[in-house]
Amino acid sequence: MGDSVELYAFNSGDWEYEYSSMMRLQRPGDSYPSLCPFYLIDHPEATVLVDTGVSHDLVENPAEYGAYGAPHFEAFAADEIHTEEFRPASEQIRDVGVDPEDVDFVVMTHLHLDHAGDVDSFPEAEFLVQQDELAYAWWPADPIQRKLYVEGDFGVLRSPEFDVTAIEGHHDLFGDGSVECVPTPGHTAGHQSVVVELDEAGTVVLGGDVAFTDEAVERDLQPPFAWDTEEALRSTRRLRDLVRREDADCYLAHDREHHEALPTPPESLE
Ligand SMILES: [Zn+2]
Repeated sequence: MGDSVELYAFNSGDWEYEYSSMMRLQRPGDSYPSLCPFYLIDHPEATVLVDTGVSHDLVENPAEYGAYGAPHFEAFAADEIHTEEFRPASEQIRDVGVDPEDVDFVVMTHLHLDHAGDVDSFPEAEFLVQQDELAYAWWPADPIQRKLYVEGDFGVLRSPEFDVTAIEGHHDLFGDGSVECVPTPGHTAGHQSVVVELDEAGTVVLGGDVAFTDEAVERDLQPPFAWDTEEALRSTRRLRDLVRREDADCYLAHDREHHEALPTPPESLE
């Protein structure tokens, strides 16, 4: 634990998806080499995880995952997500000297299966999730969205053993502007992005799935299954304006080039 803020970027699995499944009506048949990242923020006051990656248990044995299994995952994304060469979030953070029980906060951008996979490994942490996301995850009207929310991932948050703070809108973690949750709904009902202030790198925005890639930001492209496409575009524009105003760098979860531009742990962005 140093006296400055450091940001680490990890990958929990590769995800080769069809381009048009994430970019509405664009380049049908093409594939895109994406990934399932998560981040660790080492702040002088606390250790903060942003998302928990994809569950390796889900990918390896969907039928047995969680209390009710997730057999739909096999038909849905099992061939696209590859975890063989990766370790779960709770294991990878040990590479930078952090044990799962050292994590004080887990900020969830949203609860889709590629972001909420290792939640149950952090029973000591305080989870910060938008109230709208917690409610929406339970039963989205859209059956495609329902497939992206797996009870085995986040059901444990209902356990009295887990500390969940349902946040409403903007949330400044330390009251000093160094780590802030910014609501960016649209991809899902309660999606949020995270803004981090670093000494050398300046303002860094972890966009999550507000938009999937730079091209999506530039051309206002959303996945066909977005909770609310118009809301997602408004969130993307607000974030784009924040990036311009603060002269920030924005890293979108599924943009491979964004991820590769970040240092590989144990190196960090400072
Ligand atoms: Zn998502």
